[in-house]
Amino acid sequence: MSAPVPTAETRPFWDGLKARELRVRWCSACGRLEHPRALLCPRCLNPLDWRPVSGRGRVTSWTVVRRSFVPGFAPPYVVGAVGLDEQPDLVLDTTFDIGADALSTGLPVEVVFHDDRRGFSRYAFTAVDSGRNPLLT
Ligand SMILES: [Zn+2]
Repeated sequence: MSAPVPTAETRPFWDGLKARELRVRWCSACGRLEHPRALLCPRCLNPLDWRPVSGRGRVTSWTVVRRSFVPGFAPPYVVGAVGLDEQPDLVLDTTFDIGADALSTGLPVEVVFHDDRRGFSRYAFTAVDSGRNPLLT
């Protein structure tokens, strides 16, 4: 698998993953998060900044990949989408660190980070620790 090549526009995203932050574009004028990455807010055309988000959300969809499409990802693996807690209509494509049998629509999940042997980091989502006290999170 070839490593991503950050550009000036995407470097904050990749640097965020290394720093264990999930960063998405944010409009300081109207407060909306945007993803995939864009340079201008599609609503007010304000230049977008990068902002770390909580990394918590809920599963919106998923599927099991059973054929090899992406070098470095050995099937079977689970891909899908997560709506962020900060803005549920902002949906991130992702892989999951939990099996499809443990997934359900609306399942609370949180981001996890993985370091590649070649020195770049990627994100995935896993189930929120069910033993965690929700009053303390
Ligand atoms: Zn805006």
